[in-house]
Amino acid sequence: MIVLENIRKIYGSGTEQVEALKSITLNVKKGEIYGVVGFSGAGKSSLIRCVNLLEKPASGKVLINGVDIQALKPSELRQQRKKIGMIFQQFNLLSSKTVFGNVAMPLMLDRRPGEEIKKKVHELLTFVGLEDKAGHYPEQLSGGQKQRVGIARALATNPSILLCDEATSALDPETTSSVLALLKKIRADYGITILMITHEMNVIRDICDRVAVLDDGRIVEEESVLNLFSNP
Ligand code: ADP
Ligand code: ADP
Repeated sequence: MIVLENIRKIYGSGTEQVEALKSITLNVKKGEIYGVVGFSGAGKSSLIRCVNLLEKPASGKVLINGVDIQALKPSELRQQRKKIGMIFQQFNLLSSKTVFGNVAMPLMLDRRPGEEIKKKVHELLTFVGLEDKAGHYPEQLSGGQKQRVGIARALATNPSILLCDEATSALDPETTSSVLALLKKIRADYGITILMITHEMNVIRDICDRVAVLDDGRIVEEESVLNLFSNP
């Protein structure tokens, strides 16, 4: 589903050169919830940007649903991007748009017909439990509600992969639990594969099947979560 083979990512050049990813190999299976943990600067964001196709690795291979990303033309790449949804720590909602407008955005960019957009957005808002908030603006919502809007927007193009970038780090424990429950429901209902980066070990324990520990651009450990938290 998500396969990375010997990915290297280098920023800058000469003496300023930083090797952010040093031969990363990773295989996230369909329907799996896979966590990546690591300190600041370990390479987590670089890794996620290679998967969401915003960043080109210096070398190595990225396969998404069996498709070799580097081999795609720009138009094919845009198609492929729709199959990858993303949610963020700070939600990244447009403050000038309503909840409806935010969730509709990916569909409007995809030039879907208005009736289809309305139907889909209302389906999504019902799924995340915010059907009564369609006309509200982000500033009128709690953090947990904003992240639910973020999740609805991420699901608008029916992605097969959801990338979560510290998606619960700005939320209190109770809200975190409810967002994690929603992510579990997404996996159960849609069979979506979830890759998340987080520094919160309780999140890993609660939701991930496997976890990779990233340190200085390398995966130094990969474990099933069961093994990680069981006593030796
Ligand atoms: P993390 O998300 O784990 O904090 P990053 O992937 O952001 O790690 O960063 C990994 C390394 O790459 C760090 O040393 C960081 O300073 C460097 N880096 C990240 N982005 C850039 C960039 N755009 N230009 C130069 N160096 C970068
Ligand atoms: P904009 O700033 O572009 O008008 P909005 O967030 O107001 O963005 O709405 C975007 C689109 O969604 C518009 O076509 C609007 O008519 C429609 N829309 C907005 N809110 C709702 C709602 N609660 N129910 C149905 N359609 C809505």
